[in-house]
Parts: sequence; C-alpha cells; structure tokens
Amino acid sequence: MNCDELDIFLSGYIDNELTQQDSQRVQVHLEDCARCRRTIHELEEVRRRAGGLPIPEPTRKEMAEMESYVMERLFRRFGWLIVTAWVTGSAAYGIYEYASSPGEPLLQKVAVFSLILGIAMLFLSVLLERVREAKTDRYKRIQK
Ligand SMILES: [Zn+2]
Repeated sequence: MNCDELDIFLSGYIDNELTQQDSQRVQVHLEDCARCRRTIHELEEVRRRAGGLPIPEPTRKEMAEMESYVMERLFRRFGWLIVTAWVTGSAAYGIYEYASSPGEPLLQKVAVFSLILGIAMLFLSVLLERVREAKTDRYKRIQK
C-alpha cells in the first residue's frame, strides 16, 4: 500500500470500520511512513475535539423562556381580539343608537355616517397593508 491508497482507508481506520485485513495493511504502511502517521494523528485529534464538544441542547431556562414567549404572544393575540371586538361592538351600538334617534336632522346623519365610513375604509386599508407586509416578512425570513 502507498500513501495515495492509504488516503482511501484513513477515515475508516480512525472510525474502526475497516476489515481486519485492511486495518493491518494500514498499520504496516504507518510503521514505515512518518507523513501518514502524522496525518492520522491530526485526523484523530480533530475527531476527538469534535466528539468532545457539548451538544447544544435547550436548557431548562431556555425552555421556560420559550414557553413564556409563546404565552406572551397568545395573550397579546387574545387581547387584541377582545379589544377589537369591544371597539367594533361599541361603535356598532353607537351608530345604531344615533341612526335610530328621532331628533337628529337627516343631513347631519348622512355627514356623520360618511365620516365614519371614510375612517373605517382608511383603517381597513392600513390593516390590509400590515397583513400583506407580515406575510412578505415571514416569506423573507423562510428564504434566508
Ligand atoms: Zn504514507
């Protein structure tokens, strides 16, 4: 066996995956060849260091942080839902009360309703823009 042939068996030799015969042939070559002995030694060193590295695993603290983050988002989402429902409900009730009150002149009612309609449309356009931006943001994050 020469040095080039040994290269093929190197990693198998380090991982103890060679047949006994191949392993012996590598050993015979290593006895005569200082260069390959050094290569083997360096490879073993790299393997040893890589194997000795601690495996990153979420600690208990990180898990707790992750859970609180999920809860935080859940609360925020529910909070917004309740506030939105409340505001929408109150506004609808107010509009209904105003529309059905007999004392107000018709022209004033029309003016107030156009204003409300205008504000609602502006709000909706902003909302739709935000939703679209959130979607593209998520898409960009996945692409990275
Ligand atoms: Zn050699």
